[in-house]
Amino acid sequence: MNLLCVPIAVEAPDMVGLALERASLAASRGANLVEWRADALAEDPQALGAMRRLVRESPLPSIVTIRMAAEGGLYDGDDADRVSLLEALGTSGDAPRYLDFEWAAYSRSANLAQKVDLVVEHPNQVRAVETRLILSLHDLEGRPRDLLQKIAAIAHEPACAIVKIAWRSRSIRDNLEMFDLLAERPKPMAAMGLGPFGLMSRVLSPKFGGFMSYAALEADLATAEGQPTIEEMLGTYRYRDVGPATEVFGIVGWPVGHSKSPAFHNAAFAERGRDAVMVPMPVAPGWEPFKASLAAMLDDRRLSFRGAAVTIPHKEHLVRFVEERGGTIEPLAARIGAANTLAVGRDGSLVAANTDAPAAAEAMAIGFGIEPSTLDDGSFRGRRVAVIGAGGAAAAIAAGLAMHGATVVVANRTKERAETLAERLRGASDGAWRVSAASLDSLACGCFHGFVNATPVGMEGGPEPDGSPLPDEVSLDDSIVVFDTVYTPARTPLLAEAASRGAKVVGGMEMFTQQAMRQQAVFAAEA
Ligand code: NAP
Repeated sequence: MNLLCVPIAVEAPDMVGLALERASLAASRGANLVEWRADALAEDPQALGAMRRLVRESPLPSIVTIRMAAEGGLYDGDDADRVSLLEALGTSGDAPRYLDFEWAAYSRSANLAQKVDLVVEHPNQVRAVETRLILSLHDLEGRPRDLLQKIAAIAHEPACAIVKIAWRSRSIRDNLEMFDLLAERPKPMAAMGLGPFGLMSRVLSPKFGGFMSYAALEADLATAEGQPTIEEMLGTYRYRDVGPATEVFGIVGWPVGHSKSPAFHNAAFAERGRDAVMVPMPVAPGWEPFKASLAAMLDDRRLSFRGAAVTIPHKEHLVRFVEERGGTIEPLAARIGAANTLAVGRDGSLVAANTDAPAAAEAMAIGFGIEPSTLDDGSFRGRRVAVIGAGGAAAAIAAGLAMHGATVVVANRTKERAETLAERLRGASDGAWRVSAASLDSLACGCFHGFVNATPVGMEGGPEPDGSPLPDEVSLDDSIVVFDTVYTPARTPLLAEAASRGAKVVGGMEMFTQQAMRQQAVFAAEA
């Protein structure tokens, strides 16, 4: 079984009680191991007594680590001192189950290595010792140089029971190399990516036979960048259900940290009994990073990559990518020129679909007081709706409204983009869709029945979290529907302002839920 370890930093002897309480909480939340991070504690004169108590009273098997600064820890004292402390702990009668020590320090000094060897289990150990040595390598900058040689050297050490390797991932492609390393491990091994690109290596560790992953008790107690919480690991990502046959889906975008897609889709997979997990796959803006990242995921024979929810700013890239690979673009996605759903068949075939357009139409229908299930070609006839934004979401929303008969006006910060979009949608529908472009200033004409925000303005973590995309001069009343596609937060500045002026408001969660349910149907069709 792949273990889940919760690291707990202990800075001073008077923190031992609190640390033990945290460990009990970690155990009750489902952790298998606790790592006592004694980096700061190690320099205290009372350190040995405190560490003995931590190990003795721990509700879970312990790893003891005094991590040096060069590898992401706080310890900047003398190596000989920390090894003496570990040696004293190991021979004290309160020896931990595991000791984590950096290979860099271990291999630098035969004397230090000998002392560490005294307290861990290995073929030449003469005492009865139960402590196993985790020899670790952390690179806070990027992939370590001579990585393969280093791993071979670590694994070659007779005292090494578990190889642990962590490096700052520069893109999601780094994870694939970690999975290869795990799959071909010479000894039990843990491999993880540091930073946001590395989250999938932590979640998918059990798929590739990893020894363990780390998770923080709470977000603010994380000991490494990108470390998820235990609740995210066991709840959102269903870590216990991840195994060799698990299919992998991504939420692809930039940023994806706030996305609700993993929570939605992982719950849906569980409900459907599908052995699958959706993990964040942040991909930097631009066609090249998108193309390279998706190609790597698809071409990796071990990953079982079966699809993705694709979001800002890659929806147009998805259409191009699937086109270039000879896949199928569903007709609506082809018309819109943007897709938010990628399904990968068992034979590697690709399907791109757009579930935003029908979902936006349903959300707007709720605002107009129309039952969504009754929507037909003419449901929005006679209604003028302004869509603010001209990106992938705006294209889908404008199409979704126009295909049910609305007159749509696209207004965007960069006006030419709005013009291009309007022209493209008219062309794609052979003139059937009434879509035109206008400047943001002209939205105050008083002639709209609805406004839609299809920009990230107002989004938490976005470019203007406190802003509203609607020009101040636009007057609102209870005959007007304001629909904000942003769903984090649920109550955006635009919605708060519109509601205070009496308009009917529709939040982004309506659309999100509808488009995600439709994505599940696309994933299921290619299962
Ligand atoms: P996109 O393709 O990158 O387009 C972004 C659009 O927003 C562009 O028109 C851009 O204008 C405009 N924009 C960006 N920053 C702006 C700013 N500071 N002020 C004014 N305009 C700005 O992104 P997208 O995929 O269309 O997504 C847009 C939004 O829709 C996102 O916030 C996303 O969360 C939301 N969305 C929600 C759902 C849902 O289910 N609720 C689904 C899809 C999308 P320029 O052309 O001038 O750059």
